Amino acid sequence: MSLIDTHAHLYEDVFKEDENDVINGIRDAGIIKILLPNTDTSTINSVIQLEKKYPNLFASMLGVHPDNVKDDYKHQISVLEKALSDHKYIGIGEVGLDYYESTVDREVQKKFLDIEISLAQECNLPMSIHVRNAFDDAYKLFKNRDNGNLKGVIHCFTGTIDQANMWIDLGFKLGIGGIVTFKKSTLPDVLKHISLDNIVLETDSPCLTPEPHRGERNDSRYLTIIADKLSIVYNEDIKIIETMTTKNAKKLFNI
Ligand SMILES: [Zn+2]
Repeated sequence: MSLIDTHAHLYEDVFKEDENDVINGIRDAGIIKILLPNTDTSTINSVIQLEKKYPNLFASMLGVHPDNVKDDYKHQISVLEKALSDHKYIGIGEVGLDYYESTVDREVQKKFLDIEISLAQECNLPMSIHVRNAFDDAYKLFKNRDNGNLKGVIHCFTGTIDQANMWIDLGFKLGIGGIVTFKKSTLPDVLKHISLDNIVLETDSPCLTPEPHRGERNDSRYLTIIADKLSIVYNEDIKIIETMTTKNAKKLFNI
C-alpha cells in the first residue's frame, strides 16, 4: 500500500501519549504521506512541530476552521500572513463555512473565508475546505473568486451528485473518509456517478472513524478501510484505488 491521507489532525493532544505507536501503526499500514490541516492560530505551532519531527511523513497546512474565526478577525489574518512567510506550507486549510455547529456569525465566516481564498490564490496553494450546511454560500464565494486556478479538496464531502459536479467543475477534488463506510450513508450511491479522477482519501482523525471502529479514536491507518470500501463502491481492484487516489493527491498538493 502507498496511500495519502489528505486531512488528519494528528497533532492534537489526544495523540500525545502514544504518538510513537500511532506513527508506527500508520507506517505499517502503508500510509506514505499525511497532510495536517490547521484549525486555529493557536495550533500553528503543534502542526509545525509534528512535521519537523517526521518530515517525510507529514506536511503542514495553514488556516482557521470556521468554528474558530473571531468577530474581530484582523489579528488572526495577520498571524496567518506572518506564518505563511515563516514556513513552507503545502496548502491552505482547514477553511470554510459551517452553518451547522459553528456559533460564529455567518457574515464574519464569509468575510474570513474570502480572505483565506485570496491568500491561497496569491501563494498558488490548494485548499482543504470544510462546508457544512452551507453549500450555496460557499459555492457563491468560490465562484466569485474563480480565476481558472482554484484548487483544493472539498473535505469530508457528503453532498449530492449535482453538488459534486459543481465543485469538480470549479477545480476541486472530493475528500472521501469514514462516512462512506457508515451504514446509512448515501455517499456510495453518489460516488458511482463520480470518476475516480476526482477523489482523494482522508480520515479527519481523530474524528469520523470508519466502521467497524466507530466510537474509537481515528488515525490514518484506517485509510486502508476507506480504500477497501471504495474498491467495493467502484468495483475496482484495491490497487487501482490506491494508484488513482495517490496520484490525484500528489498532483494536487505538488508532493
Ligand atoms: Zn478537519
